[in-house]
Amino acid sequence: MRGSVPILDTDNLIRQNQFLTQEVKRQTHEVKRRVDQMTALNLVATTVSQSLDLDHILTVALKAVTSVTGMEAGGISLLDEHTGDVFLRAQLGWEQNFTNPPRRIPAGMGISGQVIREDRLMVITDLQHRDDLAIPSFRDEPFSTMVMTPMHAGGRIIGILSLMSRHFNDVDESLFDLLGVVADTVAAALDNARLYKKSQENQNRLSAILQSTADGIIATGVAGNIQLMNPSAEQMLGVRAQTLLNTLIQETHLPETLCAPLRSLLHLHLEDQDRSFSVKLEGGGVLMAFVSPVYGLANEHDGWVIVLQDVTHLRAAEETRMQFVQAAAHDMRNPLGVTMTSLGTLQSLVEDELALEVIDVALSGVNRMQQLLDDLLHLERIESGYAFNISEIDITELLYEVVAQQRALFEEKSQQCVVKIKDRLGHIPIDPHWISRALVNYLSNANKYTPQGGQIRVKAFIEGDFVHIEVKDNGLGIPHEVQSRLFERFYRVKNASKERGSGLGLAIVKSVVEGHGGQVYMRSKVGEGSTFGMMLPRRLS
Ligand code: ADP
Repeated sequence: MRGSVPILDTDNLIRQNQFLTQEVKRQTHEVKRRVDQMTALNLVATTVSQSLDLDHILTVALKAVTSVTGMEAGGISLLDEHTGDVFLRAQLGWEQNFTNPPRRIPAGMGISGQVIREDRLMVITDLQHRDDLAIPSFRDEPFSTMVMTPMHAGGRIIGILSLMSRHFNDVDESLFDLLGVVADTVAAALDNARLYKKSQENQNRLSAILQSTADGIIATGVAGNIQLMNPSAEQMLGVRAQTLLNTLIQETHLPETLCAPLRSLLHLHLEDQDRSFSVKLEGGGVLMAFVSPVYGLANEHDGWVIVLQDVTHLRAAEETRMQFVQAAAHDMRNPLGVTMTSLGTLQSLVEDELALEVIDVALSGVNRMQQLLDDLLHLERIESGYAFNISEIDITELLYEVVAQQRALFEEKSQQCVVKIKDRLGHIPIDPHWISRALVNYLSNANKYTPQGGQIRVKAFIEGDFVHIEVKDNGLGIPHEVQSRLFERFYRVKNASKERGSGLGLAIVKSVVEGHGGQVYMRSKVGEGSTFGMMLPRRLS
């Protein structure tokens, strides 16, 4: 028996070899195609997420996704978050134009309604025969197959990415997962672009308001470094914003009547902020300055806004009124004196009880009028350069004394009055009579305009070169729009209270404090209460 020698079937081997080579080629090609697709999709994601231009994102995304998937057309529809309608925002490769004007699909309708409801990718292979198309003319497009995938951003669906092909069942299912990721990346980029657009619109609106408002507005950083000054502020202060940017407002050559209070205010605790004070300008103009802290996104203190209102015309009108009233006050002193004396004489002559009561009422009325005249004439004396009787006074002692004098008033309304002195205030150069008067005024207002059982807090502390004294109540509060007028002579808040008063008290406080080289300020919120403060220089200047 001859040994059997294996016969090599070379033809078969060659065929197998050829087949294997083909298979390796095919697989290499497939791997390369996948890598290319991944790279391209990756590129879409990077490109769109770096752009804040809505139209650019839409165009890039559609071009890239159609070319990578090999599908001929694509569309991006967005969801109207108010109505739930879906409208086509961008399209590529279609015959008809569905974006201008954007074609709307009512909420829940058609295949897009189903994609949103079920929140999943859907493949439609019988597009030409579907009778549930929300836009029937879409059937005229030459597409047989469509893939629709929901686009998510911020945990919600914001639109749909669609891809279409003319060929039946021309869908590469292996790309579905990736398509979902790309749809969501495009969605996130679109959402960012929309947010950016919205914030830009807000910024433009804000900037238009800043440019055109009659109020002067200055924005600073936490330390007082000027970041923005609108044209009205430039005009009021007679400066160019450009020359002051990034300098500390309190250290600039702006009027000292603005800088001095700011030096002190910008260092205070934030709960003590929101203040207003008046600023006298060299040319005779008068501004009201309102200072408020600004908070950032994380609620951290981010800087300050100073709003300036030109109140020169109000002050001028007040001046004229005052001159007239003071002239009248001078003329009324004598007749009023005569009336007082006559009533006094009459009181000693009459015995009838009823007549005595009537005389009492008349006397108290005349007394009130006398007091008003006295206030007016005091104001005149202070403002016409009345020399205060200045000496170094222990301000803590004076403060406790004044509060003690007012205790009976607070007790009458069951109000609590607490004094808190933070620093060693020491002696400061003041006229004790007039500063006491000013403090009495703050305290009696707190008492008058705070209901029964309210709380009054007196606080004193040192800030820079000034001693601050503040009287805080939890009473009626004062509307923001009238706050700039409070220290005007005769100004009373309408309907604030039925309390009697002349509207001269705060004007006297202001004149006295300014006569000492200091400033008055206040902050208030309706329904929460008010704080009235004065800052007095610690040394003679
Ligand atoms: P008067 O108290 O005599 O009316 P003032 O000049 O002292 O005059 O005060 C002017 C106005 O300011 C008051 O009429 C009142 O409306 C308002 N006001 C003053 N202090 C307070 C306060 N602590 N709370 C609420 N309103 C106040």
